[in-house]
Amino acid sequence: MVLPDVANEMLTRRPATRPVIVPADDRGIGRAARLLADGEIAALPTETVYGLAADATNGEAVARIFAAKARPRFNPLICHVDGLEMARGFAKFSPLAERLAETFWPGPLTLVVPLAEGAAIHPLVTAGLDTVAVRMPRGVARDVISALGRPIAAPSANRSGKISPTTARAVLDSLGDAVPMILDAGPARVGVESTIIDLSGQAPVCLRPGGVAVTEIERAIGQPVARAGADAAISAPGMLRSHYAPGLPVRLNATDVRPGEALLAFGPDGIAGADNAAAIANLSPAGDLTEAAANLFAMLDQLDRSGATAIAVMPIPSEGLGEAINDRLARAAAPREAS
Ligand code: AMP
Ligand code: MG
Repeated sequence: MVLPDVANEMLTRRPATRPVIVPADDRGIGRAARLLADGEIAALPTETVYGLAADATNGEAVARIFAAKARPRFNPLICHVDGLEMARGFAKFSPLAERLAETFWPGPLTLVVPLAEGAAIHPLVTAGLDTVAVRMPRGVARDVISALGRPIAAPSANRSGKISPTTARAVLDSLGDAVPMILDAGPARVGVESTIIDLSGQAPVCLRPGGVAVTEIERAIGQPVARAGADAAISAPGMLRSHYAPGLPVRLNATDVRPGEALLAFGPDGIAGADNAAAIANLSPAGDLTEAAANLFAMLDQLDRSGATAIAVMPIPSEGLGEAINDRLARAAAPREAS
């Protein structure tokens, strides 16, 4: 059920205001794809729930997802593809993964598989992990991906902590003007999230039950699937306090750089001792938090390999995306946990 009244209202009465609700016909699909190609975000219908999408290869676009949802953490996002061929372009598919994809795609099954070497997926999508969660949706979302020609990252299109939206109206109510466009294809068919199966270890593990029954998956592959705890996907890799810790010690809110340290800077200001820093990377010389979020994982990694003794991090404001950036940095600085 398309909502022409809402669309008309949005288009005619408030032409300059975000968001615009657009029917998911060919024109709407083309429009959404162009918006995504320009590095913007858009809410798209999938068969599970409405997703908030961005080009998965564009870090600033992906950062906008976290900003719009007001997510306090950079947890990894699911990469949506238009088929197995696109997925093979950035992820490694074992024979088991191929079999599951062939059996259940398009559909509500997400596979966690190893990221390919040099994959174009931005590290903000995987939260810096060496695995990636991949799914091929049915219908409109798939058409948008094909039109874009690149994978899209998309969590549910709701404010962080709120329930997942199954209609365009629910997206509007939740995200308001944080999203420029909502593609409307009526109520989502499945209405629950995708089942997530982790295939990156020795044996398949269900991280989250969802739209495809685990028993169906077991039948398809002829082997049992272990169930992680009910909150496993939520407490997945990213949630462990020191999981993403760089090898080097991290010193937060630094007001100077000590001998031997590398500097992770933010903003235009200098800092004492910077001239002698072992290496310097600036998350955003202009002080832009979206740019900083997009650079965070790659720059931490770069400084970690710089040969410095530690990484000094300048203070980062905590508003907007700063909260998630500081959460990530706090994890990096946390005492190491045994693994
Ligand atoms: P959502 O953002 O609500 O669609 O949820 C995505 C889920 O996929 C989260 O629970 C993530 O923890 C999980 N996820 C995404 N990527 C990975 C990954 N590489 N490894 C494990 N879990 C992942
Ligand atoms: Mg969600």
